[in-house]
Amino acid sequence: MIRVDAGVYIGAASDLQNAQDLANAGITHILTVDSQQQALPDGSFRMKYIHALDDTQTDLLSHFDDCVRFMCDACEDSKVVLVHCHVGQSRSAAVVTAYLMKLHKMNFADAYAKLQQLKPDVKMNEGFMDQLALYELLGCEVDATSPQYKEYRLLKVTEKYPDLQNIPKEVFAADPSLSTCSEVVYRCKMCRRTLFRGSSVLSHSIGQGSTAFGYKKLSDLQRGIETQCTSYFTEPVQWMEQAVSGKMNGQLLCPKCNSKLGSFNWCGEQCSCGRWVTPAFQMHKNRVDEIKHISIATLKS
Ligand SMILES: [Zn+2]
Ligand SMILES: [Zn+2]
Repeated sequence: MIRVDAGVYIGAASDLQNAQDLANAGITHILTVDSQQQALPDGSFRMKYIHALDDTQTDLLSHFDDCVRFMCDACEDSKVVLVHCHVGQSRSAAVVTAYLMKLHKMNFADAYAKLQQLKPDVKMNEGFMDQLALYELLGCEVDATSPQYKEYRLLKVTEKYPDLQNIPKEVFAADPSLSTCSEVVYRCKMCRRTLFRGSSVLSHSIGQGSTAFGYKKLSDLQRGIETQCTSYFTEPVQWMEQAVSGKMNGQLLCPKCNSKLGSFNWCGEQCSCGRWVTPAFQMHKNRVDEIKHISIATLKS
């Protein structure tokens, strides 16, 4: 068990067995990030448990804010929290690094270097490192509406549901044809059916043809997209659910007039700019119209 910050310790499951050490360190809160919950040590502790395997595919990112909040609650009360996983090298290290980043406004590299300095045997898996890089990019606050997080979450879907059956409903964006909204929407060029919202478009940086993920290149993200990319890559929308469930790839047809809009591939597709997008739900720009303002007359029709 090693102290990494005021009121914060990192350790292993075995540290829970030593009640005297816990008492000496003044531990009051225990955050367990492990595949199983450990037997509780004697004494009264506030506990939090995150079920997680030490695996590159494990989604810790979605838990970072929650974990940091639990840790901050302890620290604000001048209490002491122990964050532990099984051996104290990867899962707990990722959570503690997220804490250092958020609390001390450090970037990932600096926070991880600081932790490794204090606990040299720390070595988190590459999946967690990517997630922390994305956490940094998101400003250390997971915003479920950000395109980067949506893209990340979609990738997790294919890992979690390899047969692509029973994909959770919340993966699909609400069908924009069922409600009115003030943001930009895109319609089928043939029948004018509203297909997706502007916020469903997942932008990507112009690709060189091989990089599948570029969290670290936010600065590239906004520029140049319009000219080189001939498709909109979106998150899946409710009307696609039947077409994209249980199938790795296929066409995307307009739900109203059946005209071909584009294609999907859960394993990814290459954009015309060269960039791989994984998974990909793409609609050709020449098959859809961008509608910037919806007039009252259009809404009533
Ligand atoms: Zn592109
Ligand atoms: Zn149509």
